[in-house]
Amino acid sequence: MDEITVGFIKKNFNFITFLDFNIMLKHSKILSNIFDERNKTVCKYCNYSYDSNIPGSYKYEIKNGKRKRVYITNMGCCSRCWDRRGFFNKNIESDFTNENLQKIFELFEFDEEKNGFFDEGKMCCKLPRMLRSNICLNHICDRLKLSQEEHGIVYQSVRILNLIKKENNLPI
Ligand code: SF4
Ligand code: SF4
Repeated sequence: MDEITVGFIKKNFNFITFLDFNIMLKHSKILSNIFDERNKTVCKYCNYSYDSNIPGSYKYEIKNGKRKRVYITNMGCCSRCWDRRGFFNKNIESDFTNENLQKIFELFEFDEEKNGFFDEGKMCCKLPRMLRSNICLNHICDRLKLSQEEHGIVYQSVRILNLIKKENNLPI
């Protein structure tokens, strides 16, 4: 995460204490060290399929006011970001009305008709890692070839991020 993004989050989520923010930053960096390169080399143009009968993946778009299924080959597991709303936990009642979730949708320009938080130009997620949903942070497919040790590190960092987010009324 570059310094501009760090400053942007600090400014817009200034209720997060200095200590909490630094812990979030630390664990976000730990996750980035494990995933950034793999995201660039393995996830980019991934043709993961939600439906094993169909090559590639699919997403939904709004066309002429109607929801339409569109088949794609290069958005991997982010292809459902739009209709799954960034995979934030909608089963927790507080997340339905969480004002910080609304803020995240606005600040990071959730594409309401097509791609959600996925930036098609850059082929990556627009959301800084520390603010991504628990599901997005935890999704590790076999293609990423994480070692046992890396799995343990990810588990620990995501757990700490979630604890701090809950304390600060941030959505998970
Ligand atoms: S995590 Fe796996 S399924 Fe998802 S985009 Fe990356 S390689 Fe594809
Ligand atoms: S929030 Fe980001 S990581 Fe999660 S599905 Fe959407 S684009 Fe992918």
